[in-house]
Amino acid sequence: MIYSILFHLEGGFIIQLTIRQTNILEIIQTLGPITGSKIAEKLSLSRAALRSDLAILTMSKLVNAKPKVGYYFTGRDLQKLNTMSFDSILIADTLSLPIVVKENTTVYDAIVTLFTEDVGTIFVVSEDNFLEGAISRKDLLKAAMGGKNNNELPVNIIMTRMPKIILTTPEESVLSAAQKLLFHQVDALPVVKTLKVGETTKYQVIGRFTKTNITRLFVQLAES
Ligand code: ADP
Repeated sequence: MIYSILFHLEGGFIIQLTIRQTNILEIIQTLGPITGSKIAEKLSLSRAALRSDLAILTMSKLVNAKPKVGYYFTGRDLQKLNTMSFDSILIADTLSLPIVVKENTTVYDAIVTLFTEDVGTIFVVSEDNFLEGAISRKDLLKAAMGGKNNNELPVNIIMTRMPKIILTTPEESVLSAAQKLLFHQVDALPVVKTLKVGETTKYQVIGRFTKTNITRLFVQLAES
């Protein structure tokens, strides 16, 4: 089965095959050369419905088309490409160090941390180092514009707090964590280790996963 294969195309794109594209590829591999109409017949679809899928497979050079002959498999190394899949890479392989401050840190000091650590999101932890919240660039900007005394205002007043924080773990796939970033419209996720403290679940922040990690992976995959 060849689900979820990522392809690095010549132009620098990375695409992920859909299940239907994977099915088409399997048909071409086993029956090719085969015409578009025959593939459509096998999948009970119209020829037009397959056009874009066949274009993707041809662009990715997995499949070639010869007039009057049909589509055939080029023999591109699927095994090798499969290892480049975002869903086979885990957060543990790519996480960055977390930048955390204690909940009583002032907004002013958090802004300084933002600059000195060169990050966009800071995670806030309790005195005993468990995750309490997150503060973004815009949270700090808003506080700075608010005219309050940022030398005294603690970050826990302005942070987004648990249980609203979207988390990831070292075992999660990069694809699934990236989907969380998009879906929840945030720039960073804390990578956590879950601990049971009595009846409650607590989270230790052991890393961060951000859009920068995805960009780095994208470039590494494109260059590999
Ligand atoms: P910015 O606000 O600088 O655009 P984000 O889009 O990451 O940065 O943050 C948007 C809001 O979501 C902010 O109020 C921030 O406190 C909050 N936030 C940031 N990271 C998370 C997260 N992992 N889970 C939940 N909320 C978050």
